[in-house]
Amino acid sequence: MRRLLKAALARFKTNPSSASGPAILMYHSIGENSAGFTVTPAEFRKQMAALREAGMPVVSLDECVRRGKAGNSPPAVALTFDDGYRDFEENACPALREHGYTATVFLVTTLVGGTFRTSKGLEFPLLSWDDARRLQKEGFSFGSHTATHPKLSRLEKKGARRELAESRETMKRELGGAGPLYLCYPHGAFVKATTRIAREEGYAGALTIDPGRVGPKTDPFALPRIDVNAKTTVESFRASLLEGKTRKAASC
Ligand SMILES: [Zn+2]
Repeated sequence: MRRLLKAALARFKTNPSSASGPAILMYHSIGENSAGFTVTPAEFRKQMAALREAGMPVVSLDECVRRGKAGNSPPAVALTFDDGYRDFEENACPALREHGYTATVFLVTTLVGGTFRTSKGLEFPLLSWDDARRLQKEGFSFGSHTATHPKLSRLEKKGARRELAESRETMKRELGGAGPLYLCYPHGAFVKATTRIAREEGYAGALTIDPGRVGPKTDPFALPRIDVNAKTTVESFRASLLEGKTRKAASC
């Protein structure tokens, strides 16, 4: 317990998240199911409308990080979706298209086209490579959520490197281009060595589930996010965006 607390404090000291600045929103499933991380399509639609009403620009993840690092930039958000559920296309895309918003989806490369099983035993169908290619053509981006969704902090360095390198290679092969820019740590679990390996493997940055916003002092390999889940009301959504309120996220 003390070790955990010490690690959390150390992380806070080395990665102070800004109270203001651009925010990366974290979504998982958009649908009608009992998972705590799920947002219903109706709520999601309300949230996208709230961004529009607030005049909040929705930018790409890379642009969001760039603006945060530069500091003093006007508020903006980037939308991210973990695990690559098929309901992203079915339930999130219609509202995203309506507003012309882009988003980044994080894929678990060995599971693409299959099923994701949560720790509570819920099963989610996943996007296929064909789906991802089609969505990419439309302007959505994809990042790596590793090859098998392990807790990277628990793996030996060699195993962690394999997860990061293999998923990157697979994405390069399936989606073309130079490979994914961003990595998303499964369960938000990482240690200092993970960030070094991610950098060495060619990623531009990595996302955590630690709450906060992106600022000039933020470590690009420990990017904080604002969690949006089943408990988020449109009021709390507005408040977290406009007032910079964040809280600890639940992990999938
Ligand atoms: Zn995940």
